Amino acid sequence: MYKNRYSSQPVIPEHERVYHYVSGELHKYLGYHYPLSIIGTSDEPRVVLNGSHLVLYTKHPQDRGEIAFILDMWYREQAKAIFVPVVADAIVKAAPYKISMPKLRIYKLDDRWGSLSQKSKILVMNLELIKTPKPCIEYIALHEVIHARYPSHDMGFYSALSNLMPDWRERENILRTKFPI
Ligand SMILES: [Zn+2]
Repeated sequence: MYKNRYSSQPVIPEHERVYHYVSGELHKYLGYHYPLSIIGTSDEPRVVLNGSHLVLYTKHPQDRGEIAFILDMWYREQAKAIFVPVVADAIVKAAPYKISMPKLRIYKLDDRWGSLSQKSKILVMNLELIKTPKPCIEYIALHEVIHARYPSHDMGFYSALSNLMPDWRERENILRTKFPI
């Protein structure tokens, strides 16, 4: 479904990608690439996804640092709004394994999509997941949640994962090949 939207784009690990924050530059959101459209305004800064463009309103359209900051804030808001229900769904899905709701933290990470601390019951999800397709976000949430029951990647872990999400390999493959961090 999202294939055609990103297949023509070069695949560069996200942490190596350099953005210039100018109009027309492509930015990712939920697996799609949207051209950035920067518009001057006297109002408060905001970002609006209008279907084909990521429209960013700012008082200082030439200030790339500020544009980067506004966009980052927007990604963080979207990530919070989307990851919270996705994690709640993963907990419901994993009910047979009796896993309780972890505390969710969203950080930008260079080397992993997520992690779960057994001791503190803190689930960390990588902010960069907001740039990937929602099925991939669901996969990472479920993967980490299952670690609450099976800390290592052993047979129990994979059997639970395959049981709860039979197509997890496909989702992982999209992350690895199309959205490397
Ligand atoms: Zn794992």
